[in-house]
Amino acid sequence: SSLAQPGIQRLRAYDPGHDLVAFRRRFEGRFLVELGSNENPYGPSAKAKEAVLGTIHDSFRYPDPLGGDLKRALAAKHGVEAASILLGNGSHELLMQFAQVFAGPGADVVASKYGFAVYAIAAQAAGATLHVAPCNADDHAMPRGHDLDAIAVTITPTTRLVYIANPNNPTGTWFGADAFAAFMAKVPADVLVVVDEAYAEFVDAPEWASALSLIQTHPNLVVTRTFSKAYALAGLRVGYAIAHPGLIAVMERVRESFNVNSAGLAAAEAALGDDEHLRWVVARNAEQRASLAEALRARGLMVFPSQTSFLLVKFAEPGDEARVARIDAALIDAGVVLRPMGGYGLGHCLRITVGNADENRRLLAELDKVLA
Ligand code: PMP
Repeated sequence: SSLAQPGIQRLRAYDPGHDLVAFRRRFEGRFLVELGSNENPYGPSAKAKEAVLGTIHDSFRYPDPLGGDLKRALAAKHGVEAASILLGNGSHELLMQFAQVFAGPGADVVASKYGFAVYAIAAQAAGATLHVAPCNADDHAMPRGHDLDAIAVTITPTTRLVYIANPNNPTGTWFGADAFAAFMAKVPADVLVVVDEAYAEFVDAPEWASALSLIQTHPNLVVTRTFSKAYALAGLRVGYAIAHPGLIAVMERVRESFNVNSAGLAAAEAALGDDEHLRWVVARNAEQRASLAEALRARGLMVFPSQTSFLLVKFAEPGDEARVARIDAALIDAGVVLRPMGGYGLGHCLRITVGNADENRRLLAELDKVLA
């Protein structure tokens, strides 16, 4: 509609990949391998499921508008005060709101090439202009990973906000704590840096550390996390941000009053109380991530380094996107969903969620038929 703001008229909606509902209908009753959306194949903690059931009776009531219990549990986990925590309807909601609050029309927003797609949508929806910093080259130790120096030099006096995911989706790449501290030292105090740590729980690289340790000393830093990935609660939509209490207080002014529903609040709090399940999920993912990457490399495919629950895999040379579209379509016909990457300008790659052992075995078997 021409009635929409100019930035929004140019916007493309978030692309969830394939039509999963149609896919499930087509293969009803058969074993499907859904590895397109970075969902957790192990499911949530039994304690979280039980907590959800406990909320059904009172679902005629509004949820706690402050989410106090969950905030206190998160504060204890991260060693911060509850006033440093903001809850969201998934971290996606919070990522959108940061642009709205800190970067309006006329402001510039910086993200990296191959940064998560939501950052561009958030910037444009807020009426701001997105500037994309170049990423590492393919011959770098971290191919297509974020180049923090390039991001720093893309910041100008009109930049209000920087989005960085660590590790990043869709590349799976990451950067270390020392590099990030050096980057923050270069960022002006009037630029908000949003570090999206949606996949943090899956990381085992020793040089990585959460940006949370810099929150105390940097009032212009915010870290976002989610219950959708390692905690396997994607369907209940709970995310959170941690920052200086002054910054959180500003965000609370624009937050929708009941943005996190009662089932989500209860499930997230219960999930935090089940460390054993989390550790089990993370260990299974690390083991399957390593074996799947090795199996794909053994088939001659280039697998980008990953500290997440997914792998970005190069199936053809750039320019041969048609071949990858054929592979993707043939896998769909075999009941296997992966994520096409054309929207990121990576049409020669597919992103594969690390499944459980059965899913990965089936993926590799179908892939062998398709690539034969
Ligand atoms: N950040 C990153 C990097 C993601 O990959 C995702 C989910 N794909 C999100 C944020 C949003 O997750 P949610 O809204 O479910 O918390």
